[in-house]
Amino acid sequence: MIPDRCLADRAHASASSSLGRPGRGLWLCLAGLLTLTTIHAVSGCATTDGQPAEPRELLQQELVLESLKVRVTYWPEDEKTVTKVIASLGQAVPATALWGEFEASIDLHILPDHESLARATKRYGYPWLRAWARYDEILLQSPRTFDLFERGAANLTELMVHELTHCLMYQRAASKENWRQADRTIPIWFREGMASFTAEQGHRRLSEAHLAEWRIDTGTDPISEADRLYKDKPEVVYAAAHWAFTHLMERYGTGIAVIVLELIRNGSDFPEAFRKATGIPEHEFTEGFLSRLDRYDQTGR
Ligand SMILES: [Zn+2]
Repeated sequence: MIPDRCLADRAHASASSSLGRPGRGLWLCLAGLLTLTTIHAVSGCATTDGQPAEPRELLQQELVLESLKVRVTYWPEDEKTVTKVIASLGQAVPATALWGEFEASIDLHILPDHESLARATKRYGYPWLRAWARYDEILLQSPRTFDLFERGAANLTELMVHELTHCLMYQRAASKENWRQADRTIPIWFREGMASFTAEQGHRRLSEAHLAEWRIDTGTDPISEADRLYKDKPEVVYAAAHWAFTHLMERYGTGIAVIVLELIRNGSDFPEAFRKATGIPEHEFTEGFLSRLDRYDQTGR
């Protein structure tokens, strides 16, 4: 799916190559850089006073990282940002290898601000959202617009690992034609937990002790109520997902996630795939995780 119709329609209609632009020497040193393309496009349908927008250059780079083809599209204001994003991608791709190989290339769109991301994802009222992944596409709010704390190289690599893991999960579980259908059966705790676990983001999640405290205070189940909590309590939902998935990996090994995704690819929905792979229903596993959290609070462990 194309994130921004105005942007993308014009872009595909009038692509023109412009290799060898000045100042690109550093990029050309990157192994696997295939092409650098300049596209004449407009950034919006019209300006705020109703006049047609001035044409602007939309830029693209195509890369091969390991065996993964990535096409990065961005606006000129992110010419410096894209170098950091590509460096982070180069570090991120190997981290996803434990789940297998990508079967489709990735389109990475660097969007100039949060408003553009909200519009492209139709997710309004999520000010904390920085990126969005689909089967073969990542929409990334330009890291140029993050606050200083968030903009570090390590954080960007984490984010890239996280989003690439989502793409790979979809590609392992489904084809391009039916990944949305498969996604509807995969619970948030597994989807976000897998991405957070792969990106080793436990250090930025609420600890299990804090999660246990929150659970005592609210009497809320952050696993089964994740959909309801997602918008306003993302820190709780992501922490529960991270620790539940980590618990799954500790108990069964990383291979279990690969088996679950393979079973979904072969026609099972998530609950059936989980039960076939682990021998227990999903609710038994998640209830066990929550019981562990509750004991955590009692023992202070
Ligand atoms: Zn995610």
